[in-house]
This record gives sequence, structure tokens and C-alpha cells, in this order.
Amino acid sequence: MTRYRSLASLKRDQRGCRLCVEAGYPLESLPVIAPGEGQRAYLFGQAPGIVEGEERRPWRGRAGKTLRRWLELDEDEFYATFYCASVTRCYPGHAPSGRGDRTPTPEEQRLCERWRDAELRLLRPKLIVTVGGLAARRLLGVASVTESVGRRYDFDGVLAIPLPHPSGASSWLNVPANRERVATAVRMIKDALDTLE
Ligand code: SF4
Repeated sequence: MTRYRSLASLKRDQRGCRLCVEAGYPLESLPVIAPGEGQRAYLFGQAPGIVEGEERRPWRGRAGKTLRRWLELDEDEFYATFYCASVTRCYPGHAPSGRGDRTPTPEEQRLCERWRDAELRLLRPKLIVTVGGLAARRLLGVASVTESVGRRYDFDGVLAIPLPHPSGASSWLNVPANRERVATAVRMIKDALDTLE
């Protein structure tokens, strides 16, 4: 495991990572890299979508717009506030069913963990926000989005707050009680961000 001394050197290596391709997985982009520097909060999603894969920047598509609307942040504020990471960093392609994107396999998730661990060691964020069920399960060990959204967690001494995925692909957000859970989580995140400034 490489011990990085700066995010710049980490990102330089991350840009060229092909570990999953070498392991035989059919990725459809190069790694998406978190823009900017100096963020004090860490956003941990599932995997880039097709737009993010093309631009190699996180949260560029419709889900990103929804996420920023939830958090009431414009693009500049969003990328200055959050270091945007995810369980895997390359666009995994369409799901075999044709509905949505392929969920990265457990082995891809494991291979990509090295980036997350190195980032958290260097960044030492004051707040972690997970986005979507896979990210919350992977990082916090929670059983489900329904159980976790609206609650606070402790990840190695860092406050962690889960959000659901804002893609609109699931009907979870149509349930009024779940929308209330999201509103509670957003209030918690905004309160936490206020204390970081
Ligand atoms: S998903 Fe992660 S580990 Fe796999 S090739 Fe992309 S950056 Fe590397």
C-alpha cells in the first residue's frame, strides 16, 4: 500500500489506475478525480455515471444537480465544500438488465478501497456524507438506506451522515416518510457544515 504525502501525488496515480481492468472487469471510463483542494468534508457516493466518466469529474449529471438542490449549494460552493469520492471511481457501464448502471462487484469495491483509505488519511475530514445505499453499507456497515437516512454515525471519530442516492431511479424518494428522512439528514449536514466554517 503506497503511503501518499499529498493529495496531488495521490491524484496523479489515481488518474492512471487500471486495477479493475487488469482484474478483468469491463470498465467504461478512466477514473473520475475530485476537483479542487482544501475541502473539509468528504462525500462518498457509489460510482460515477456516464457523464462523469466522460468529463472525469464527479456529480456532473442530473443526480448531481438534485444533490446540490437538496444541499442548497451552487456548483462552486459544492466542489469547494466536498471532496467528492465514491466506492469505485470508474464508470462501470450499463447493468446487464439494461436498467441503470452496473453495480460494481465486491472485488472492484475492494480494489478501489485503497483510494478511499489514502484520501481519508490525508484529508482528515470533519464530516463524511455518504450518498446511496452501497456507500452507506460499505463505509458505515448499515443495513439499509431507510434505516440510516436521518441518523448520525461515527466513523473513526468523524461525524458521518447518510443521504439516499438522488438519481430518481428508485421510487424510495416518492414515499413521504422518506422525503422527511432526507429533509432531516440535510438539516444535520447543514448544521455540521456551519460548525466547520
Ligand atoms: S474503479 Fe477504482 S480501483 Fe478500479 S480501476 Fe477505477 S480507480 Fe482503479
